[in-house]
Amino acid sequence: MEQQVKLETNDFSFKRQVYILYNTNYNNDDFSMVKVLLVEDNPLNMELIIEILRSQGFTVDTAVDGEKAVDMAEKYTYDIILMDIALPGIDGVETSKKIKSKPQYKNVPFVALTAFAMAGDKERLLNAGFNEYVSKPLEVHEFVKKMEKYRK
Ligand code: MN
Repeated sequence: MEQQVKLETNDFSFKRQVYILYNTNYNNDDFSMVKVLLVEDNPLNMELIIEILRSQGFTVDTAVDGEKAVDMAEKYTYDIILMDIALPGIDGVETSKKIKSKPQYKNVPFVALTAFAMAGDKERLLNAGFNEYVSKPLEVHEFVKKMEKYRK
């Protein structure tokens, strides 16, 4: 009789451990969850967004500035990039251009996270190549709904 393993927890690290246990050929690139690179320099926003994304089943890596984000995007492959616009050093728009210039990111969705509330800002970001725009402070329910479509 076949034994079924049923996970009743949203604890991501637990799921990952179970995955490793039951998949002997495990490596990071084969992991079935959608991998997000979150670029954010504000620790509280970072913490909140990580919590939400992990509870939705996303795998989350983080970078606190543009340079680190470009390094991470080269080293690993992500399914979606969440990009704060106001960053120390190179800003989110420039950082996204750098990452988007790599062929493996041609079809990867970029989501802008920004506190800018100026009229016309959304259009500016969409024109700069972002697929989506999320304004801060984050409206949790709206954010969850926006991210839902990126889950595989
Ligand atoms: Mn910022």
